[in-house]
Amino acid sequence: MAPSATEKSQAKSSGHKSEDVDGEHNDWKFRAPYKVHNKEGEDFNALYEASCHCGRVQYQLSREKPLSAKYCHCTTCQVLHGAPFQWAAIFEKEDINFTHGHHELGWYESGEKTTRHKLPCKVSCAYCRTPIMDEGRNMILLFPGMIKWKSVEERKKFMPSCHMFYEQRVVDIPDGLPKWSGMSGKSDLIADSPAEDVKKRKREIEDEEKGKDGKESKSSKKS
Ligand SMILES: [Zn+2]
Ligand SMILES: [Zn+2]
Repeated sequence: MAPSATEKSQAKSSGHKSEDVDGEHNDWKFRAPYKVHNKEGEDFNALYEASCHCGRVQYQLSREKPLSAKYCHCTTCQVLHGAPFQWAAIFEKEDINFTHGHHELGWYESGEKTTRHKLPCKVSCAYCRTPIMDEGRNMILLFPGMIKWKSVEERKKFMPSCHMFYEQRVVDIPDGLPKWSGMSGKSDLIADSPAEDVKKRKREIEDEEKGKDGKESKSSKKS
C-alpha cells in the first residue's frame, strides 16, 4: 500500500529531508519493517534497543521473545557474514521500529546479486556494513549481535533452538541441540541431535512416504 500524503508530510515536519521522503522510490520507508512508529501518537512498546557498530542504524523491538531462533552454517552465510556460522532471530515485520538511520540501509539480494530492494534480501548499515537482518517476504530474521542486552536472561530468550545446514559446517558445536543437515524441518537430523527428535523425524519421513504411495496408488486405480 502506498503511504498517504499526511504520512509523508508528517515525516517531513519531524525533520526528514524532502529528498528522503518524496517520490515512489521512498515508499518502502513507510511500510513495515521500515515504517517509523511515531513517538507521540502510535504506541510502540520498546523492550530492546539495538545499534550497528557506527551507531547510524538503531532500532527497537516490541516482542519479548523471537518467534524462533537458529544458527545457520550454510556456505552463503559463511561468505556474507565472514563468520563460521550465523545467528538469526525471527520476528514479525511489525515488531521492529527503526529510530535512526533507515535512510542509511544497504541491501543485497543473493539470487540476482542486486543491491536493489528485492525480497528476500540482506540488510546492512550502508556506512559500517554491520549485518542487520535478512528481510523475507513476511518475516524478518534479525542478527541479535547488535542488541544491547540489559541482562544475561534477556539474551537467553534469543538462544537458538537448532542448527541448520549443519552438513556445511566448519566447526562442530556439540551443544545437544537438533542439527539439520539442510533446511530446518525439511532435511535429516545429524551429529549429536537429540535421539527423541531423530526418532520423530524418522516417523515423519516414513509418513510422508506412505502419503506419497497412497496418492500414487489412488491415481493408478483411476487410470
Ligand atoms: Zn553503521
Ligand atoms: Zn545460511
